[in-house]
Amino acid sequence: MPPSDRRKAAPTTLHDGYFTAPLAETDPAVADVIGRETDRQQSVVELIASENIVSRAVLEAQGSVFTNKTVEGYPGRRYYGGAAEADALERIAIERACALFGSRFANVQPHSGSQANHAVFLATVQPGDTVLSMALGAGGHLSHGASVNITGKWFKIENYGVRRQDGRIDYDEVEALARACRPKLVIAGGSSYPRAIDFARFRKIADAVGARLLVDMAHFAGLVAGAIHPNPVPHADIVTTTTYKSLRGARGGLILCNDADMARKIDAAVFPGIQGSVMLHALAGKAVCFGEALRPEFRRYAEATLANARALAARLIARGHDVVTGGTDMPLLLVDLRRRGLKGDLASASLDRAAIACNKNAVPFDEEKPTVTSGLRFGASAGTTRGFGVPEFERIGDLAADVLDGLCENPADNTAAELAAAASIRDLTARFPIYSGQ
Ligand SMILES: *Cc1c(COP(=O)(O)O)cnc(C)c1O
Repeated sequence: MPPSDRRKAAPTTLHDGYFTAPLAETDPAVADVIGRETDRQQSVVELIASENIVSRAVLEAQGSVFTNKTVEGYPGRRYYGGAAEADALERIAIERACALFGSRFANVQPHSGSQANHAVFLATVQPGDTVLSMALGAGGHLSHGASVNITGKWFKIENYGVRRQDGRIDYDEVEALARACRPKLVIAGGSSYPRAIDFARFRKIADAVGARLLVDMAHFAGLVAGAIHPNPVPHADIVTTTTYKSLRGARGGLILCNDADMARKIDAAVFPGIQGSVMLHALAGKAVCFGEALRPEFRRYAEATLANARALAARLIARGHDVVTGGTDMPLLLVDLRRRGLKGDLASASLDRAAIACNKNAVPFDEEKPTVTSGLRFGASAGTTRGFGVPEFERIGDLAADVLDGLCENPADNTAAELAAAASIRDLTARFPIYSGQ
């Protein structure tokens, strides 16, 4: 091809409107599923505890042109050029994270909560070292040493659980285990433990055996940010969290600490230890979410989330369900279905058909497989964001209980109860629009 023709042909590599045409025009298939997902989020009661509904501002920041920028390293120490605005963005996120949680240092780069934890392992322990964490079946997290996770494969994991009588952590047991196994790292925090953790006691246990203490506050970071839950930062060597659960931000993780030497180790563990370039678009979303969480309204949101979780727990108890530990200090609660003869998988599927989204979850001392389980985990973060208060959560508790009662009576076909609840859920969700005008 002569050079003049090549120049003419070049623009065809960009389709018309590459920089301007909306997704609905250029890719209707993907635009359609996004549209249907928007409808689904609008029309279900979202009780999955790991979910929330972010602000338009967070969505906009995550969808921004920072998608295009690649940087590695930390502000002022990047490998690529053109990073001045990326540096400014990351500095805003760090400053806000530190202000929000009262920490001296923050690493805002982890792509997820698991990566944040993996970075802590890399910074604090060597392969083969002993780590003491909560058992997955008692409410721990995969990235705290589950056998299928890299942390379980490469480190020697010892687990503490909860007491059979009351479902709570037995701190004397944790201390005895620590003294026996001499861990290098102790981990507190989990995915379905519904009670406030005694961070000071964990600090003492870690100190008694010369271990570092990691608190993973993924599920309750929003309550800490709202100052209605004790802050682990003064007690732990390192605190990790996800940013998208009760904290209500972009997808990703965050690592906090107060010691300069530890902060350097954490930074090196995140990059170049386990990650490459920064997801700056997600970082933009995190910065916005930290900004939102610093405002006084967020405290009211956190208070409402806890009040709603407690109202839901109380309603389910009133309707004859066992709530693990009899209530909650968290944005989530755990229902033990064993006395009612139900399984987590069938119960969550039936609730799903009634437009109540939740997840099956192992309860302490569960004998069912992880794919079946004997429990349900409910979270209040997303519903609270869309404006549900205690009356709505009590209503949701009744509707969920109706579905579960139906399932006890008609295990083979619970359609009647599911349809009845679904009709009420439709009325409820229609009154609380999300992203309206979309
Ligand atoms: C959700 C969660 C994580 C991990 O989050 P991902 O972003 O899914 O990797 C880590 N720790 C705890 C306690 C969690 O609940």
